[in-house]
Amino acid sequence: MVASSLLRSLTRRGCAGPAAFSRYYRHHQHPFSTAASAAGAQSEAGWGFPGLGPTAKGEKARVVVLGTGWAGSRLMKDLDTGGYDVVCAAPRNHMVFTPLLASTCVGTLEFRSVAEPLARIQPAVSKSPGSHFFLARCTGVDPDAHTIDCETVTDGQKDALEPWKFKVAYDKLVFACGAEASTFGIHGVADNAVFLREVHHAQEIRRRLLLNLMLSEVPGISEEEKRKLLHCVVVGGGPTGVEFSGELSDFIIRDVKQRYSHVKDYIHVTLIEANEILSSFDVRLRQYAAKQLVKSGVRLVRGIVKDVQPNKLILDNGEEVPYGVLVWSTGVGASSFVKSLPFPKSPGGSFFNDGRIGVDEWLRVPSVQDVYAIGDCSGFLESTGKEVLPALAQVAERQGKYLAQLLNHVMKAGGGHATSAAEVDIGPPFVYKHLGSMATVGRYKALVDLRQSKVG
Ligand SMILES: Cc1cc2nc3c(=O)[nH]c(=O)nc-3n(C[C@H](O)[C@H](O)[C@H](O)COP(=O)(O)OP(=O)(O)OC[C@H]3O[C@@H](n4cnc5c(N)ncnc54)[C@H](O)[C@@H]3O)c2cc1C
Repeated sequence: MVASSLLRSLTRRGCAGPAAFSRYYRHHQHPFSTAASAAGAQSEAGWGFPGLGPTAKGEKARVVVLGTGWAGSRLMKDLDTGGYDVVCAAPRNHMVFTPLLASTCVGTLEFRSVAEPLARIQPAVSKSPGSHFFLARCTGVDPDAHTIDCETVTDGQKDALEPWKFKVAYDKLVFACGAEASTFGIHGVADNAVFLREVHHAQEIRRRLLLNLMLSEVPGISEEEKRKLLHCVVVGGGPTGVEFSGELSDFIIRDVKQRYSHVKDYIHVTLIEANEILSSFDVRLRQYAAKQLVKSGVRLVRGIVKDVQPNKLILDNGEEVPYGVLVWSTGVGASSFVKSLPFPKSPGGSFFNDGRIGVDEWLRVPSVQDVYAIGDCSGFLESTGKEVLPALAQVAERQGKYLAQLLNHVMKAGGGHATSAAEVDIGPPFVYKHLGSMATVGRYKALVDLRQSKVG
């Protein structure tokens, strides 16, 4: 059962079993030599590369982790690499400390202060012979064969290196691949706005801000154009939108007024929200936040964005809002990859649109063996009777920690290899205790909501 369809596919190619399988892997060239040889190996073998086939008894079992975010990084940090090899595939090789990302957009923090390389979090991926990090995106899973499909990420290198595909066999598979920024299908968002989820987003925001500050001083620029270039619009009044607006207003008060004083009266921040800002916080905190933002010069607008064009957006009341920098932060939803996975999904709840990978109370995907999902890409199945947890670092990080303990325990009890854990007692389920929420609003002020803890 473990690799029934895998063996079937090998048999079709004239191989006979695990021993033949590893021979088969050894005979194929490693993909990283040249794109051409990679393409050759791919077309010849379909998917065989050394060291990525099923593990044999006596070898370390392989945990494959998809994602280097809060959930995946914490999991990999705590995994016992004495008993497991760790293979991580993700489109980025570092973890991003998201709560501080907004501060890097305006230079309060440097980019490197919020990014930690995976090799520092789990050194085995760069040192241990069977552990690896692959700069690749998972594109599919075959739970019967215990394999995943990956495609390399070669962004920006397209002329030199074509992306290629490969497979990895797993003993345990952990989805920790996060969520995607929601655009609600609004026209023009993806093309014209910047999200704030990755370091390269923060770099792009900083680049546009500084470019516009420079351009607004060049001779011949009209008053109207100057105001537009220096109008920073943030859409979404959740914690990220509020914190970013606060950072921007600090930047204007502290830096622009001194270093770009010719244009200090032209630069403005507008925060657009369809409902109330910080709607998950206590009402008095919300009011306080709104007051502080207005005091710092942020214009609060209640409205729904209908259309986003290259230099202006249109609200549902027809108002046109010209902008120089547009940051989109209206929450997250399941990624198209997660939606495409052949697993039952969680009901969504108040925090998510739909489509997170459904898990049981031990964070297992119950319809298949040896597959787990943690962090923003997962949610409790309706059958657990548990609330779907919010898309938060504090959820993701604790799920990563819990799952590492569970997998280490399973391995020590002899269940590390594929389909060998059925008899192992896996201990107590995951329990979430909410520790409270915090949001900064600029000028060294922050809100902390410590209402009763939520237990999920
Ligand atoms: C600006 C900002 C500020 C925030 N502030 C806070 C805060 O103060 N407190 C708090 O609790 N939460 C905060 N959050 C939310 C928190 O960051 C998320 O809940 C958390 O990152 C979720 O962790 P994760 O590991 O599930 O996903 P992520 O951290 O998003 O990581 C997902 C990983 O999966 C990878 N990936 C994506 N697709 C694939 C694929 N197909 N194959 C392989 N890998 C893939 C990604 O490259 C990434 O490495 C903030 C979020 C943002 C954006």
